[in-house]
Amino acid sequence: MALKRVPLRTIIKVVGIATLPSLVVLSLFAVNERLSIHSFLFGYIAVWVGTWMVVVPLLMNLRALTEYIFDLSEDKKTLVPELNVLKTIFNIPEALLRLRAVWDHKAMDMQMVIREGEVIVDTLPDILLMLNDRLHIVRTNRAARTVFGQNLAKKKIESVIPSRLLLDAVVAVNEDFRGREVEFRLEEPVVRDFLAVIERLSASDKGGVSLVITMNDITELKSVEQMRADFVANASHEIRTPLASISGLIETIRGPARDDDKAIDEFLEIMAEQAERMRQLINDLLSLSKIEMNAHTPPIDRVDFVKVVQREIKMFDLIAREKKVHIVLDVPDDVPDVIGERNELAQVVHNLVGNALKYGSANSEVLITVRVTTELPPDIVVRSHTRMLLFSVRDEGEGIAKEHLARLTERFYRVDSARTRQVGGTGLGLAIVKGILTRHKGVISITSTVGKGSVFSVYVPLYDA
Ligand code: ADP
Repeated sequence: MALKRVPLRTIIKVVGIATLPSLVVLSLFAVNERLSIHSFLFGYIAVWVGTWMVVVPLLMNLRALTEYIFDLSEDKKTLVPELNVLKTIFNIPEALLRLRAVWDHKAMDMQMVIREGEVIVDTLPDILLMLNDRLHIVRTNRAARTVFGQNLAKKKIESVIPSRLLLDAVVAVNEDFRGREVEFRLEEPVVRDFLAVIERLSASDKGGVSLVITMNDITELKSVEQMRADFVANASHEIRTPLASISGLIETIRGPARDDDKAIDEFLEIMAEQAERMRQLINDLLSLSKIEMNAHTPPIDRVDFVKVVQREIKMFDLIAREKKVHIVLDVPDDVPDVIGERNELAQVVHNLVGNALKYGSANSEVLITVRVTTELPPDIVVRSHTRMLLFSVRDEGEGIAKEHLARLTERFYRVDSARTRQVGGTGLGLAIVKGILTRHKGVISITSTVGKGSVFSVYVPLYDA
């Protein structure tokens, strides 16, 4: 690389300063008449020329060195200049080359760390938003863009997330530098709950990142929390009702009905019924809790489903005869086994046949069918099984209105609470069926016609499917 020229004024200034001591010495000699004026002039010019010849290349080298250092500080990729003069004195070019290599290496390392950081931030499942001190969005990660839209940069936080709670917390953190956590809800486009953690960075450039907000969608967590609270409230209510009835009757027997044997008999019968209801309820609650506990360990046994059905139906013989309901079992030969847990599958059969008898009309028929099928109901997506066992129970009862169908498998959901209690239901039977089927990777489908009856169909994976 060619070296640039040095301005003449600079050269003259430097040569002038460098030759000043010689000028003083020569002048002293001339004043004391030990040097003629010609010799003085000749001597000084010789010193000038000599100094000039040394200083000019040195200055050119120094100028190139200075420019190179400026380029380095601005991260410009210029070549190290050929500093011949400096090289002969201190080998400065070699020192510069090494400095440049270390500098480049460190810059590359830093860029890699930054890129890694960006990838990590971008792939974080948590939503991340970075704001400047005027509460404009500066940076986001992919999760944030997926939830709140692609073009978030430079927008005000409140225009992207319209929540008063969040905004107040962000403003407060921005002012007092104390991090905060805030839970808030967005109603649009669907109701979602979020938990946000807001932190203030201590120092930032003007317009740079001042606030970091990380957020989690806690909608599901909230709804599970709510479901648990509802469940406990419902269960307590269900237990308290028969208990209150039993306590009331005990008081009556002790007091006003003390000597009325007929009434006492009647009351004792009601108390026995209520106690039975409590027993059933507690059994169902225990079943549900057991199913929940095992939910993540799929069953592995080979079960002869037809045998399970035949055995369960036998248990309903007496009730069916009392209600004059004719149970018809339609099972082809050679039905293959299913994967499952025998007791749980027995409970599915028990609850569905039990319901058909409970809610079916007197003098009617309950048709129980077992089939192998590849046709699943259209609203149901089952991933791994193409052939499944279909077990369906058809009753001739009053049927269920359409709007109730989707909610029948919720815990304690009843179409008509008074009527259900009257027939001895706990409101948990179908929730238990659904829980068991989920664990078995099976499904339930319900169809019904008001005034005609209902069909409850369950699909269970075959052992050899
Ligand atoms: P329960 O123990 O109260 O019967 P389930 O969970 O088994 O609870 O059923 C929930 C509700 O679904 C019942 O309360 C009832 O209203 C309705 N139901 C269930 N099976 C039938 C059926 N075969 N016919 C009509 N309604 C039914």
